[in-house]
Amino acid sequence: MSLLPALSGRAVVVLGAGKSGLSAARLLVRAGARVSVYDEQPRESLGPAAAALSAHGATLVAGQPLAKVDVGTPALVVVSPGVPLALPSLQQAKDRGVPVWGEVELAGRVLAPGVPVVGITGTNGKSTTTALAGALLGGGGLRPFVGGNLGTPLSDAVEGPVPGAYVVELSSYQLEGLQTLRVNAAAVLNLTPDHLDRYASLPAYAEAKARIFQRQGPEDLAVLNLDDPWTPRFVPHLRAPATGFTLDERTTLPGGFTGAAVASPGGFRVTGQDASYRVDNRALRGAHNLQNAMAATLLALHVGVRPADVQQGLDDFPGLPHRLESIRTLDGVEWVNDSKATNVDAAVVALKAFPPGSRLWLLAGGKGKGAPYAPLREAAGGKVAAVLTLGQDGPLIQKEFATQYTVHACGTLEWAVARARELARPGDVVLLSPACASFDQFRNFEDRGDTFRRLVQALS
Ligand code: ADP
Repeated sequence: MSLLPALSGRAVVVLGAGKSGLSAARLLVRAGARVSVYDEQPRESLGPAAAALSAHGATLVAGQPLAKVDVGTPALVVVSPGVPLALPSLQQAKDRGVPVWGEVELAGRVLAPGVPVVGITGTNGKSTTTALAGALLGGGGLRPFVGGNLGTPLSDAVEGPVPGAYVVELSSYQLEGLQTLRVNAAAVLNLTPDHLDRYASLPAYAEAKARIFQRQGPEDLAVLNLDDPWTPRFVPHLRAPATGFTLDERTTLPGGFTGAAVASPGGFRVTGQDASYRVDNRALRGAHNLQNAMAATLLALHVGVRPADVQQGLDDFPGLPHRLESIRTLDGVEWVNDSKATNVDAAVVALKAFPPGSRLWLLAGGKGKGAPYAPLREAAGGKVAAVLTLGQDGPLIQKEFATQYTVHACGTLEWAVARARELARPGDVVLLSPACASFDQFRNFEDRGDTFRRLVQALS
């Protein structure tokens, strides 16, 4: 624990008692600190993990508004990714000379030395690319830890056997709190206006993402999306050789880039390599997943995975649940769960992933976010046989589609699945890609997707 200041017997505050905050608290207790974890929620709603904190020797301070809380003058404040670093209480701590770190910064200081760190950020595709990069490294025999924003917090990686690599999904919130972590192979997948509620502007958001490159050196690798208009903004932040990826074979390599993965028929090739890679795995369908596959491959190659192992990993990747997840094919009809599409843009990405001439039965609707549905209708052109609407925004979606498409107002997922079973013919695809949040009828998108999967698996 060499990069940690001596914490034994000293007071440390953790803000946020979510998964990452609790994981950080456990790490700090093991380092001998006297840990207090603050959270806005009342104790009852924080669940058993928070209750277990006291068993670990940490104190929980629940039900306190984090913006106003006075954390005193501890040796260190560690902040969960959900907690904004601009809180007045954190500024106050900084003014008193207290170091303020994000959870990943804390974890990064205690990772096993010499083990490569692979980091992935971007607005969309982080989880898929992280899981895929993890799978490619695993297939290459590296026994990686895979986690971060997705799944297991990085602070958990310091327990157990030393992995062959750390593959870490990093949200921009996590990157904001990062100071010393050196990411040996780092990718920024894309940047679109998201989370602008938290950032003053898109450039500020881009700046947070660029922190993934800040500690890199000449032996490291930066991976960037050559099709993204924001990419040139990152170039001044680079300290490592940069490799790009592009869907467009005509893209010329911009200055500052040493190579690229370039889409080619059926997959992609990597400049400077003879091999090209095939991407025909259903779990990676769509141009967006081809981009994710190219990014994951560049990262994997950099940490020494052999091209043949990369290909095997691309072929075997099972995909993540709720993201264009193929559940089953029944009587020639494929049923696909894309419950993660909680907004119109994500559902558009899903529709684009199916080739022209596909016949899709689109199940859409739920708790809308106020965005227009016209882009969904436009992306449906030539592919959608009918729309089956659900939930609160069902009528709005019906209104958007009714002049050009058959719409079945189903209301519930149960009813939509039953109708789609009657209507779909061999060769068709039934796609749940709701373009809406799920909270009107489900706990979250996972609950919605799990319900869909159960219903589909029960069909006979
Ligand atoms: P994240 O962890 O960044 O939210 P996921 O891998 O969970 O990303 O994908 C979430 C959704 O984002 C997918 O369902 C898909 O609609 C969209 N998506 C995935 N990869 C990309 C990409 N490379 N570019 C644009 N959109 C993407």
